[in-house]
Amino acid sequence: MKIVKRIFKFIAIVIGLLLTFIVIILMIDSQNTNYLKVKNNQSTTNNSFLISNVNIIPMHQDTILIDKMVYLKDGIIQSIADNIEIEGVEIIDAKNKYLTPGLIDMHVHVWDRYELGLYLSNGVTAIRNLWGMPMHLRIKEDINNDDIIAPMFFTTGPKLTGPEFIGDDNLNLVSPDEAREKVISYKNRGYDFIKTYYGLTEDLFDAVVEQAKISDMDIVAHPSQKVPYSYHYNPQIHSIEHTEEIIQQPLNYKLDTLKLNEIIEGLSKSKHSSFSPTLTVYHNIYEMLIDDHILASEQLQLMNPLIKKVDSKAQFDRWHTTKLRDSSIVKTIKNQHNFHLKIIKKLHEAGVTIICGTDAGIGVTIPGHSIHQELEFYKEAGLSNYEVLKTATVNASKTHTIMNNMGTVEVGKSANLMLLNNNPLLDLSALQNPATVFIKGRKLNRETLDNFEKQAKHRKNLIASAVRYIENLVFEK
Ligand SMILES: [Zn+2]
Repeated sequence: MKIVKRIFKFIAIVIGLLLTFIVIILMIDSQNTNYLKVKNNQSTTNNSFLISNVNIIPMHQDTILIDKMVYLKDGIIQSIADNIEIEGVEIIDAKNKYLTPGLIDMHVHVWDRYELGLYLSNGVTAIRNLWGMPMHLRIKEDINNDDIIAPMFFTTGPKLTGPEFIGDDNLNLVSPDEAREKVISYKNRGYDFIKTYYGLTEDLFDAVVEQAKISDMDIVAHPSQKVPYSYHYNPQIHSIEHTEEIIQQPLNYKLDTLKLNEIIEGLSKSKHSSFSPTLTVYHNIYEMLIDDHILASEQLQLMNPLIKKVDSKAQFDRWHTTKLRDSSIVKTIKNQHNFHLKIIKKLHEAGVTIICGTDAGIGVTIPGHSIHQELEFYKEAGLSNYEVLKTATVNASKTHTIMNNMGTVEVGKSANLMLLNNNPLLDLSALQNPATVFIKGRKLNRETLDNFEKQAKHRKNLIASAVRYIENLVFEK
């Protein structure tokens, strides 16, 4: 008996030490992102400003308002006029600068808080996270409590899939009852939207949609290959993801324009759904294939270390092995990317609402930085600069009711804005490295934003990231 007691004692001590170690690791990681805390940023305590002499690109109409004044009060756009006189408010002289809404990335995967700074640094003032975990609820809470400076944060729950789908750590639903329970529980726990994923069969899909309607939860759909593509044209589905899924599912990997036209027609009739292309993440396969040193590049040092070690490397190895077997893969991927551009042009011409989404945070798709590439692709597809900018501002904000208070420079909207040195309607590169970003009226200058980049580079939070991921596996199943 004594031996058994000793073994138990030993196990208890080991578990105790392990838990202490985990708590310390998480505390250190949390301390290291203290630079995002509102209370540690003296310059951001103020959220009321008067911006003068500024050119406004409002984005609810195709125009530029020249030489205006904009009064931001308590994080809200209070007034816009030729002349505003207010006592005791800091005035920002924005002569020759352009004021636009902050950008919105509608398809991201967040792994840590450093990434929040990377989004802001690139002018992204709102993100929609599409793989919800408990850590994202904590981020949301800290943002809502005004503890941290971060983009407005929206997240789906964990991905819902069918019983047979084996892939990343999805929630494999086995019955319609379970599907309904999950939707209710995600709503109660504070997730904003439901994400449907591969493998959902018709009965499971119906149960999710039905319950989402009752629970008033918008669905974001990564199309399931177990139902017809047209199954996703449903009023509860507010956004359909990924251009490549059109090719991989209804087109059956054939770049078939005639068949494509049917899909475009279906999507264009489905007015309640926006379409999020995520062209960058697919094009990055091509980038990986042509650049043997991409994992060691400077940009990749901005990725979360766990993702870099696991996902970026696995993707790189997989594509390079494929290339060794058959070098024509490089051309195949490039051709498919070019077909994606064609699809975007057709979708746009057919009146489908396109919303900018990058799939940043996985593979080699860098949080924040990748949005500029994504927007360039829409331009290459044939959209005007104004139409391109709409995808990441007003189109995105109209997709979900809870995002309606952003996306344009109008009185009453949240003061999530950018001040740019040049006019992005003439050249989209003006969106890169914004001179100033306002988040809920707080002013972040370039120096602060550059510091966010510096802090994120070469971060060493691999174990902390792994712990948060394991937490998800344990508690979200
Ligand atoms: Zn994704």
